[in-house]
Amino acid sequence: QSKQAGRNRYTFFDSVLDRKERTKRTRLERIQSGLAQGEFILYYQPKIDMRTHEVVGLEALIRWNHPEWGMLLPGRFLPDVEGTELAIPLGEWVIETVLKQQELWLSHDMELPVSINISGEHLQQAEFLERLTKVMNRHSTVPGRLIEFEILETTALNDISRVSDIMTACQKALKVRFALDDFGTGYSSLTYFKRLPAETLKIDQSFVRDMLQDPEDLAIVQGLIGLTTAFQRNVVAEGVETLEHAAALLEMGCFLGQGYGFSKPMPADKVEKWVAEYHQDNRQPRVSSIPQL
Ligand code: C2E
Ligand code: MG
Ligand code: MG
Ligand code: MG
Repeated sequence: QSKQAGRNRYTFFDSVLDRKERTKRTRLERIQSGLAQGEFILYYQPKIDMRTHEVVGLEALIRWNHPEWGMLLPGRFLPDVEGTELAIPLGEWVIETVLKQQELWLSHDMELPVSINISGEHLQQAEFLERLTKVMNRHSTVPGRLIEFEILETTALNDISRVSDIMTACQKALKVRFALDDFGTGYSSLTYFKRLPAETLKIDQSFVRDMLQDPEDLAIVQGLIGLTTAFQRNVVAEGVETLEHAAALLEMGCFLGQGYGFSKPMPADKVEKWVAEYHQDNRQPRVSSIPQL
């Protein structure tokens, strides 16, 4: 009797797991077919030098233009992809799309570095450098220094020396750059910062958002800026939404910012006009160093 019940229970749990697995697989298949059918699109968000009001770069951010559900943010579909084999084709699509876009912009004389968010699976894939070299050779008008990869601290969690070697090899061979994204939110220890050869650190938007109300967040922002200065790395603040944010960051010595205060991410075909207008509007010398948002 009880043996029988135990067996039934197993059967019950097995089928729940099966069902979860099946729906995840269905969602992955849907993402895969969406990729094949061109439903993914990259938006771009400008990065600003808040001293000079110059656009100094762009970050590519993926969206899924779903035929039924509309424009989906990465939070809606990337968690399904993470840790699966689909992370690599999706990531390669992002890289190739950015390179094509860069070719077009360069042919229009717009030369701005573009940052690409890259997953841990993708970066740590065997032959990452070889495959990146091939695609960059196919788009050889784009110099490596105009491509930056943003990695999360969790990317290096399991093997910091391997990730550091991959980064160094890419920097040497292709002149591409690296940034540590969302810094301070993961399991980061300062060892990551020291041992990973990223040129740039991006302060997570959660610290920037609250720094004017929360003295501890302000101290974190200040500390990270001090750290990057001491290590001679660049620092970018994410989530700059207000004039007050920008002014405080400038005062603390962080000159580069990204956020809704400057622009939300926009489709590629809006970028050139936006950059031209932003520069036009800010051409007059400023009496103060307080940025125009
Ligand atoms: P992230 O790389 O840290 O990108 C910044 C996110 O913050 C973006 O969200 C951006 O739209 C949003 N953001 C920018 N400025 C502000 C602001 O002032 N206020 C607020 N509240 N938010 C702001 P998004 O596009 O939803 O992307 C979320 C995350 O998805 C990214 O975080 C990145 O980790 C990941 N992601 C995006 N595109 C890709 C991709 O092509 N590949 C990979 N592997 N991950 C990606
Ligand atoms: Mg990023
Ligand atoms: Mg970030
Ligand atoms: Mg993020």
